[in-house]
Amino acid sequence: MDEFEAVVDLISNFLGEPKKIYENRSQVSWDCPVCDDDKHKGNLEVNVDKAVYHCWSCGDSEGTHGPLGKLFDKYGNKKHKKLYNVLKPETVVKRERPKKTLKLPDAFTLFKDSSPVYPVRRQAMNYLKSRGITDEMIEKFGIGFCDKGDHAGRIVIPSYNTNGVLNYYIARSWNPMSRAKYKNPEAEKDKIIFWENLIDWNKDIFLVEGAFDGLFLENSIPMLGKHMSELLFETLYMKAKGNITICLDADAIKNAIKLYHELNGGEMWGRIKLIKLPDDKDIADLRGEIKDEYYMIIK
Ligand SMILES: [Zn+2]
Repeated sequence: MDEFEAVVDLISNFLGEPKKIYENRSQVSWDCPVCDDDKHKGNLEVNVDKAVYHCWSCGDSEGTHGPLGKLFDKYGNKKHKKLYNVLKPETVVKRERPKKTLKLPDAFTLFKDSSPVYPVRRQAMNYLKSRGITDEMIEKFGIGFCDKGDHAGRIVIPSYNTNGVLNYYIARSWNPMSRAKYKNPEAEKDKIIFWENLIDWNKDIFLVEGAFDGLFLENSIPMLGKHMSELLFETLYMKAKGNITICLDADAIKNAIKLYHELNGGEMWGRIKLIKLPDDKDIADLRGEIKDEYYMIIK
């Protein structure tokens, strides 16, 4: 059990089951012990990392807010408080690892810089064509390949930030026998926004799982998994002006629905759409073709 779960567990001892848990934002809500009155509104929000709590309904009128220690003093018992003091996130010093500048693999080669008759280039190109990836996509996204070194036999899809600095890349093996399908950099993927330099925040945005999915949809952001980073959530909230369509793989429909509810609020209310892909397909399998019937109606 990590520290976040331990603190949530501890609070649940005296506030009951949490209403909502947003682990990536370190945020959890409970029914407020002061004002809820069995209405189960989940108005009391706790941020575990920041070690604060706040009731959205009675916080100002009843003073139901403050450092997390105060919540324990008011509603927990001595044992809870003691355990909390041991765990207390505010005393945990977060060690920042020195940042290494991210570089593309040494052998990275753009398709246009290699001879079309070079056998390795041809293997790489055949793989891309078999997945429906066009020359325009290869050009637009700066896709390349590696013929030697650590990343030999891999397609590389780079990602750049708004300043044009490399912030991540995906390295996918084209050999079906390869032990590791992907060999991506160690850089923390939740600290970057993939293809940040290509996103038009004023237009409709598609959220997809992987870079290969994103190639097929106009103005898409690969989340590099089924979960959204806090950074992406906040950036969408601040900058996205159009609709946001969630388009995760068919096997991630539960994650997608959860994400829908997390996004569909405040500024973004009514602008979130959700797509359920058929038969274990991802959007790359479907070559980006989204039929009307894939849109889910959420109540
Ligand atoms: Zn309250």
